Amino acid sequence: MTYPIADLEAFIDRHPRLLVLTGAGCSTDSGIPDYRDTDGAWKRKPPVTFQAFTGNDTTRRRYWARSLVGWRYFGMAEPNATHRALARLEEHGKVSRLVTQNVDGLHARAGSTEPIELHGSLWRVRCTGCEAERAIDEPIEGLPTCGECGALERPGVVWFGESLPEEPFELAIQAVMRAQVVLVVGTSGVVQPAASLVEMGRARGATVIEVNPEASAGGRNRIALLGRAGEVLPELVRRANQT
Ligand code: ZN
Repeated sequence: MTYPIADLEAFIDRHPRLLVLTGAGCSTDSGIPDYRDTDGAWKRKPPVTFQAFTGNDTTRRRYWARSLVGWRYFGMAEPNATHRALARLEEHGKVSRLVTQNVDGLHARAGSTEPIELHGSLWRVRCTGCEAERAIDEPIEGLPTCGECGALERPGVVWFGESLPEEPFELAIQAVMRAQVVLVVGTSGVVQPAASLVEMGRARGATVIEVNPEASAGGRNRIALLGRAGEVLPELVRRANQT
């Protein structure tokens, strides 16, 4: 292993409350592809925009039909070593809050407490009329409508070209503003919105630790851990168990 894990272990002992920020790289070991990779699936199959979804009945039906397949796929995915390690670090009192760009719900299933989901969740739908949200635990067949007002429901995830929902982003900013250390896992930290959260933390003097298989931009208050999250994080937990 090429990362200085002994150094990190000592560092985390001194700064126990990590704000964890995760991205798609966390879930690739669970078989969920990173759609924003350079050759990601979204380039081969253009994404449905929210405008197309609301504007066209055929698109709506096609979207929800396609989602049936997608949901089954996501529903079969299991939390991996990275998700489990982050939940264990929280159990050890090392994590103040977890913020994720992922919509797969795997952090919560691994045991992390109320992850802040910046891009929403595949396990919620929201009314396009009254904005009411509800949780779902299985794929939706047909066109779902709101039990309150009867309007069409949409997936509870951020679409391409849509801005982030304000509430989770505000919560994430508040958490970053309190953080001494930001642990970045499975995202390069240069892609938005992770990048702006990382910069806010750094501007306040927080140290940023990046777990990344590829070297990324260094700089002040920045520690890069070269290695796969699925190896680095379980090793940290193993060491935390020994102290
Ligand atoms: Zn409604």
